[in-house]
Amino acid sequence: KDRSARYKRILLKLSGEALAGDKEFGIDPSVLDRMALEIGQLVGIGVQVGLVIGGGNLFRGKELSDAGLDRVTGDHMGMLATVMNALAMRDALERANIRTRVMSAIPMSGIVEHYDRRTAVRYLNQSDVVIFSAGTGNPFFTTDSAACLRGIEIDADIVIKATNVDGVYTADPKKDKSATKYEMLTYSEVLEKQLGVMDLTAICLVRDHCMPVRVFNMHQAGSLLKIMVGENEGTLIVE
Ligand code: UDP
Repeated sequence: KDRSARYKRILLKLSGEALAGDKEFGIDPSVLDRMALEIGQLVGIGVQVGLVIGGGNLFRGKELSDAGLDRVTGDHMGMLATVMNALAMRDALERANIRTRVMSAIPMSGIVEHYDRRTAVRYLNQSDVVIFSAGTGNPFFTTDSAACLRGIEIDADIVIKATNVDGVYTADPKKDKSATKYEMLTYSEVLEKQLGVMDLTAICLVRDHCMPVRVFNMHQAGSLLKIMVGENEGTLIVE
């Protein structure tokens, strides 16, 4: 079997919730260490890894505004939360001896570098993992949109979204026992069937730029590596 990497450069999106592990809130360091190992395996077979991490384990702008806070302020807090997650992930990656850079869409001198596409691509070419934090830098967007945007900007071969389920289903598999998994979907099917894989902004962006997306289960150890060598894990979304 051919175990060489099918992708030269990927953009991996992890939700903030993934970092919380079994806890509802915050960061579970043991989860970070496990993810660092999985990401290290990719770097080990020569894949360049760009990472976007959400912030939902700490703050979500919409939830805060539903509770009475100004939405834009809430979104700013949400974006800062993604920077905290990025710092924690860098720590775990560097402890696993994986060279890592954190860039932020919002300038934060003294803590992280400001996002610059050309510099990011240079780091990726040096095999450094690059974590793109602070989302798109704008309120009213999500880190899914940020992942698709950065994936397109850095000319990644694919955007890979880690979730809690092993792909996209016809219905919520936790609620509906007859739900079946899609092996493959088109962007229009995702939109027509309102499958809620990512928000509409994100889906439209990848569709307009023909950027393939794969959705897979982060909790299955080794899945990421399998995807890299061409195995059909989760659901692939293409043209
Ligand atoms: N956010 C934002 N603009 C962006 C990305 C994120 O305002 O470009 C804010 C928004 O409030 C969001 C929060 O950051 O709720 C955390 O991101 P997200 O909800 O996407 O995290 P995830 O669900 O992936 O953990």
